[in-house]
Amino acid sequence: MNSCDGCTLCCNLEPVTTPELTKPANRWCEHCEVGKGCRIYDGRPQACRDFQCLWLASDAPPSMRPDRIHLYAFKTGDVTKVCVDPDYPDAWREGLGGELVKCLTSLAHEHVIVITGRQLNFVPGDKEIPSKLMIEWVL
Ligand code: SF4
Ligand code: SF4
Repeated sequence: MNSCDGCTLCCNLEPVTTPELTKPANRWCEHCEVGKGCRIYDGRPQACRDFQCLWLASDAPPSMRPDRIHLYAFKTGDVTKVCVDPDYPDAWREGLGGELVKCLTSLAHEHVIVITGRQLNFVPGDKEIPSKLMIEWVL
């Protein structure tokens, strides 16, 4: 398993809605020291403690660290979400980020939803799409 170390990308891209802290997606958390870590690490909300991107939960190399490839992935329900730094909107189509999306859909057979700011892209994986997912996607 990796360690976030100096990555703080999800403290910008993830929304947080807890009694102690509310922040929208794509805005730096007021407690984040960008590129260093959380200023309230020991008292951070449970939602922050629970969040683990796939890179953090893996032994993937340092070159794939989310702040270096400008995106991170996490599994939720029937899909894997890939959240992209809107300052690097092509990060999921090219370079190491593009390779990651290809691996997720072709090797891991995952359906991927790419979120870049307010834009969503659906990249189907190499397996049947559950009808529930189709209905949620269309609606
Ligand atoms: S994106 Fe992943 S590695 Fe980066 S701070 Fe969040 S959980 Fe840690
Ligand atoms: S409270 Fe800490 S861990 Fe949670 S979003 Fe803010 S800076 Fe990140």
